[in-house]
Amino acid sequence: MSASALFANYARTGLEFDHGEGIWLVTKDDRRFLDCGAGIAVNSLGHSHPHLVEALKQQAEKLWHVSNLHVVAGQELLGKRLADASFADKVFFCNSGAEAMEACIKAARRYHYDRGEAERFHILTFEGAFHGRTLGTIAAGGQAKYMEGFGPKAPGFDQIAVDDIAAVKKAIGPQTAAIALEPIQGEGGIREIPVDFLRQLRKLCDETGTLLIFDEIQTGVGRTGKLFAHEWAGVNPDLMAVAKGIGGGFPMGACLATEEVASSMVPGTHGTTFGGNPLAMAVGNAVLDVVLEETFLEGVQSKGLSFKQKLAALVDNHPNVFETVRGKGLMLGLKCKVPAGDFVVAARAEGLLAVPAGDNVVRIMPPLTITEDEIGEAVARMEKAAAVLENKLKNEGAAQ
Ligand SMILES: *Cc1c(COP(=O)(O)O)cnc(C)c1O
Repeated sequence: MSASALFANYARTGLEFDHGEGIWLVTKDDRRFLDCGAGIAVNSLGHSHPHLVEALKQQAEKLWHVSNLHVVAGQELLGKRLADASFADKVFFCNSGAEAMEACIKAARRYHYDRGEAERFHILTFEGAFHGRTLGTIAAGGQAKYMEGFGPKAPGFDQIAVDDIAAVKKAIGPQTAAIALEPIQGEGGIREIPVDFLRQLRKLCDETGTLLIFDEIQTGVGRTGKLFAHEWAGVNPDLMAVAKGIGGGFPMGACLATEEVASSMVPGTHGTTFGGNPLAMAVGNAVLDVVLEETFLEGVQSKGLSFKQKLAALVDNHPNVFETVRGKGLMLGLKCKVPAGDFVVAARAEGLLAVPAGDNVVRIMPPLTITEDEIGEAVARMEKAAAVLENKLKNEGAAQ
């Protein structure tokens, strides 16, 4: 038996952090790491942001949890703010990304059921997608490696290739309830869905009465330089899942919907014990205070551009290590020629944290509060890591 009492379902680094300050994570023995992973795009305002800490402390002294049997003022406020700032009219709060997607899927199915079309329960999703780890969302994601050994795939999920509008047209039938996708695939490897494809999907949905679901769990709440990534395309969904960055590190998620779609979710149809509790809502509102400040999102856009340019230079400097840089705002990806995991390990040795993704990509997703100087420092560390890998390749070449 191994020493840990925990499930062995994670391949952990072994690093143990004691505290965080802004974009920095500090170990017990005082080693400092520049955090370009942000807890997988969660710590949107960095670590121990004073406004978030204050909001959580104040709420902790008043009230933690009352359940959804009662009115939660923080939910009313955050729901209204999210609706005012987006396509949505109505909001449902939960605790995670997968739960937010489940709520979208249930709302889409219920919408058609209410219209006498109970057979319309199929959801079309795309290759390379990731929507979570529940039984429903692994079926939606469609990746065999996440479904293997967990019983039959939940019915009603059909997968198609990205950017093949003819295939989507063919796949939409009398059973189709909705089309679900991430505007930029995160786990799939920072793969941007072409704007034109998103527009064509919206058009197809309108023509066929199909609902459009955006999974903005990773792209949302300022990550790409807009409050939500779909704003870049000017295409609104009918339903949207949000989580990760919205809580700045406090577990929470949300399903946003138009009035028409949300109206199917009447008492008894759905619920959660913890979702939207006063602690989560206090932090969620505090995150929005900052992200909705006048120039915050413009700042993310300009810092994102600057970071991407510097990463493009890094790629040019190390053509044997990297292939290209992609992504938007502060959701960036380095497509590697060496195994992406090797670069993540080499960067960690230089005191920089990044997150591997599919398609041999390393994700660079720092807190949105990162400064220009810190971007420079991050790239300098990546240069060092790349040089180490480059030397290793040379030595291997010489040895042959
Ligand atoms: C992380 C993620 C999820 C799942 O969120 P959990 O909070 O881990 O359940 C779903 N979709 C996307 C796009 C994600 O990035």
